[in-house]
Amino acid sequence: MRIGVDLGGTKIEAIAIADDGRVAARRRVAAPRGDYERTLAAIASLVGDVERDAGARGTVGVGIPGTISPASGLVKNSNSTWINGRPLADDLPRLLDRPVRFANDANCLALSEATDGAAAGAASVFAVIIGTGTGGGIAIDRRVVTGCNAIAGEWGHNPLPAPGADEWPGPECYCGRRGCIETFLSGPGLARDYAASGGTELTAIDVARLAGEGEAGALACMARYEDRLARALGSVINVLDPDVIVLGGGLSNIDRLYASVPKLWNAYIFSDDVRTKIVRAAHGDASGVRGAAWLWPREM
Ligand SMILES: [Zn+2]
Repeated sequence: MRIGVDLGGTKIEAIAIADDGRVAARRRVAAPRGDYERTLAAIASLVGDVERDAGARGTVGVGIPGTISPASGLVKNSNSTWINGRPLADDLPRLLDRPVRFANDANCLALSEATDGAAAGAASVFAVIIGTGTGGGIAIDRRVVTGCNAIAGEWGHNPLPAPGADEWPGPECYCGRRGCIETFLSGPGLARDYAASGGTELTAIDVARLAGEGEAGALACMARYEDRLARALGSVINVLDPDVIVLGGGLSNIDRLYASVPKLWNAYIFSDDVRTKIVRAAHGDASGVRGAAWLWPREM
């Protein structure tokens, strides 16, 4: 049995996947925001709960926002800031009395969808979470690519490719730079672009809905968004050339992206013919926790 834990900013979820692939147990609790010790205790208690529910002991994989720094062994790059600089990769195995595998939450999305989701059977998968941020992850042959700095797939803090005059130097980003992909393609980025172009303060999903109703400002905003997404994904395709790109996160529910972006990205890709598929995550919000469980893969 495989246990996956998704450590999110607002909730912690755990599932147990039985050897036949069935979900044998599922539990979630609110994240003890700001409290590392209680976060550890909550994970340990969730693992105990799903093992009791499923009646078996399991391997444990944990998806985290951020990553374990190969240099220090401590958590880095997490927007759940109370785990940054903490020895999660030492504390949790000791607490659970077994080895624990960790991966970034977008890497877990890539692994989940490559294992038995929207990219099942694909040799190489690039997955992005477009929501409050723009995380990204890579799975090759159903294994997560971590990288020597543990940042493989982190496209969100690259500069937006081929910026126009009105996109340069771009909005300030929390990482300290300007014009990062995340500042344009995250939900807040889309919402800000709409408001800055004469629209009102709306969420990204509401802007997409207004575009569906034919509102001119929202249509123009979505067209800008889609061209930016095409540029940002086009540069990934030029480097990695994945078989499938999976979109997860709140903005992955915007249907028009799947038709519009592939029409736009040819202009940015160094190929006469682009066969790359772009699909919505099949497991939705559950992909993080499922991918964490698959950090202990099936024997091939
Ligand atoms: Zn940035």
